[in-house]
Amino acid sequence: MEHYVYPLVFVSRNSGRYLLGTTLSIAFSPSPLYHKDEKEEKMRCPRCSSLEDKVLESRQNASGTAIRRRRECLACGYRSTSYERIEDKPVMVIKRDGRREMFDISKVGRGIRSCTEKLSISEHRIETLLQNIEDAIMLKLGNRREISSTEIGEEALRQLKTVDLVAYVRFAAVYKAFNDIEQFIGEIKQLDKELN
Ligand SMILES: [Zn+2]
Repeated sequence: MEHYVYPLVFVSRNSGRYLLGTTLSIAFSPSPLYHKDEKEEKMRCPRCSSLEDKVLESRQNASGTAIRRRRECLACGYRSTSYERIEDKPVMVIKRDGRREMFDISKVGRGIRSCTEKLSISEHRIETLLQNIEDAIMLKLGNRREISSTEIGEEALRQLKTVDLVAYVRFAAVYKAFNDIEQFIGEIKQLDKELN
């Protein structure tokens, strides 16, 4: 028998924030699923499948709903990010056609990566951008559990504009789904004005 100490976490569903309360000590048989120290928890490398990695950095997002850990594989050096979230009702995205799907920042990431191809934007810059977009969306959501795909697209555009204008225009063309070519040209003219 071993003793494990767990923090008790009180979750307030309304605000999405949590408070750390007292600690609880439980005695039970050791299980490979539980670890005393969070930092000992390893995650499998997405590239080489090694289970040996180290945490480079832990960061809480602006709205306090997630903790991100930058990880580095000790076998091949590949860097990835893991997310820890309060289990809550998922955030749903309302698409233009009315269908709903679970919010997933990696989908926004795929869109952004396809627009930043062959541009000299570092992976770190893209990851930071995605974190900022997600933070902004979570803050915008507040107590809501639904957001439109348009709102997400607008936020991504707003932030992408500060990173790279070529990527911004590419993303706008795809994501903003311009109704016609005039609208697209209008956007480019507006951009021109902002640059001059
Ligand atoms: Zn690896």
